[in-house]
Amino acid sequence: MCIRDSSYSMGVKAVARIYYLGHASFEVKLEGLDGKEKVVLIDPWISNPLSPTSLEDYLRSRENIDYIIVTHDHGDHLGETIDIAKRTGAKVVTIYDLGLVIEEKGVKNVIGANIGGRIKVEDLYIVLTPAYHSSTHGNPVGVVLRGKDVSIYHAGDTGLFAEMTFIGELYKPDIAMLPIGGHFTMGILEAAKAVELIKSKIVIPMHYNTFPPIKADPQEFKNIVEEKTDTKVVILKPGQEYIYP
Ligand code: ZN
Repeated sequence: MCIRDSSYSMGVKAVARIYYLGHASFEVKLEGLDGKEKVVLIDPWISNPLSPTSLEDYLRSRENIDYIIVTHDHGDHLGETIDIAKRTGAKVVTIYDLGLVIEEKGVKNVIGANIGGRIKVEDLYIVLTPAYHSSTHGNPVGVVLRGKDVSIYHAGDTGLFAEMTFIGELYKPDIAMLPIGGHFTMGILEAAKAVELIKSKIVIPMHYNTFPPIKADPQEFKNIVEEKTDTKVVILKPGQEYIYP
């Protein structure tokens, strides 16, 4: 298992690189269905209190961003999506109703979709999944992202729900990012049950310790999951990158 302290790790052969920006924000690099590397930002709230970087430094250090996926419109998930999309030309994938709002703010390349089947983009396999949560514009979602050799599930903000079993069965995630902070999402108890349903090889806890109400101990989550299941828990500090496999 390889964890590095920054995302400047080019040259290491990897199927996927997951760079943690804190809270629920990740940069995922994976080989697309067209054989080219794709850079996907999920819920980019880069100004979060635990962030390892500023938005300016982050954008300066990136050549391109292919997609931004937004799970719902709460500020800690929408984050700096609009600014980043305008400045980089990244395509924004989100729930249809929130897509309209983002378009109204002047973003081109918005792909508004809904919970269900595969979204019609050529170079990645993207599916929006249910999430039990709230939002102002459209349903909150999770997302499954599949490239050539890897399947990744980011649950968004959600409580536990039984259909996570289907996400596990249909999309066979290698890596799942699950919230463990409680109060607004699953806590440790519920997230550990979710792992039993999803059965990913790796789980990365997220959405904890950003603010006092979502304080949680990821080591406690790791102990419970690894005692009960075959899934390995990878705890990332903001600014660390997990190189899979
Ligand atoms: Zn939320």
